Amino acid sequence: MTHDEYVDYIRTRFSDLFDPTNTEDSWQYLITIGPGWWALLTDFCEQLEGVLKHHDEVGRWYIRQVKEKMGELRIYTRPAPFERPDVDGFMEWIDDIDPPEPSPAAEMIGIVKQQVIGRAAHTCEQCGDPGEMRVLGGWYWTCCDRHFQEWQGRKASQ
Ligand SMILES: [Zn+2]
Repeated sequence: MTHDEYVDYIRTRFSDLFDPTNTEDSWQYLITIGPGWWALLTDFCEQLEGVLKHHDEVGRWYIRQVKEKMGELRIYTRPAPFERPDVDGFMEWIDDIDPPEPSPAAEMIGIVKQQVIGRAAHTCEQCGDPGEMRVLGGWYWTCCDRHFQEWQGRKASQ
């Protein structure tokens, strides 16, 4: 499965979890993690869907971005825009306040998010094998021994 195919799968299978006003451009950058973490994200989406159904909040929370940062999995979820009409101007500013307001659903979202982030910290982002955070020349990556060796090889030949 290519990255585009995976994104299409998530977008179709979990359409309730994403803002329907997302543009094709925003979808280009919405999910940028490596294939080794795709299964973790799929799990997260299933759990998030369950939490939202349980709290009757389907359509009130959206996944805004899924990316790797400093070697860690980052998942940003936001209340749907109609809940916070001023949110667009503050997207950057509130990046790390997540979720912004306490509620039973927000609390559960935070818990399932931390669980999946914890699993990602021990999962190679490239292949999904057991791995850990590595640092090379100031860059961070969570990967297995094999992909760490490949990475070192690529760095050495640059
Ligand atoms: Zn690997």
